[in-house]
Amino acid sequence: MTNKYMYFIANWKMYGNLSSVNTLNKVIEFSKSKEINKGRLIYCPPYTLIGSFLKKFKNCQIDIGAQNCHESESYGPYTGFVNSYMLKNIGANYVIIGHSENRDKDENNKLINLKIKSALKAKLKVIFCIGETLAEKRKKKTQSILSKQIKVGLDKVKNKSNIFIAYEPIWAIGTGIVPKSKDLLKTIKFIKSKFKDKSPKVLYGGSVNPQNIKNLKKINNIDGFLIGGASQNAKKFIDIVKKTYS
Ligand code: PEP
Repeated sequence: MTNKYMYFIANWKMYGNLSSVNTLNKVIEFSKSKEINKGRLIYCPPYTLIGSFLKKFKNCQIDIGAQNCHESESYGPYTGFVNSYMLKNIGANYVIIGHSENRDKDENNKLINLKIKSALKAKLKVIFCIGETLAEKRKKKTQSILSKQIKVGLDKVKNKSNIFIAYEPIWAIGTGIVPKSKDLLKTIKFIKSKFKDKSPKVLYGGSVNPQNIKNLKKINNIDGFLIGGASQNAKKFIDIVKKTYS
């Protein structure tokens, strides 16, 4: 059983409609129970549901984040985008930046760095996603890829207290495959070693579910989990948290 303060971040991706909000009742009830121990729950729904989620979570401790933001620090002619100030203004406290599904759509490390800096200025906490592809892993390039993502992504970011790094190997996202425990322990240690002073919290993401959490929770340098598919099902999400603390 762990007594560590852990973060459980639900990434709903491009799923959900207004009626999905009702599925949150169980999670709200759970968030008020002792079972959650020292955990923190954060939901990142699509932009269209942020307002409804905020209303729903008004009287509980569950926090809200967005899944991305534009890098501009002011309003502008950017059709279809939302910047970090707009997110903070409606009540979001977190934003996911650098998710591989966005990196895949031409978001490079430099753009991610601009987004991170604008989000921090807007006083959002940043869930900064990094991770290697399967081909990179096979070529034993994991550490060099992560180093570059961290170096460029956090360039000129002096205060890292509002940064959370989510290590998400791309080959583990939505595939049902998770890294071997010893590899994950080593990679999280490597990520933390990149920071001279205090390392940001490092979370793991990629196919976390109520079955594999029993092993994942034993990896003692992980500070929490970024959960995609399983987080859309309240029971599974609650189970993951419960099993982390049982
Ligand atoms: C994610 O997309 O951030 C993620 C971790 O997805 P999944 O849990 O579905 O692998």
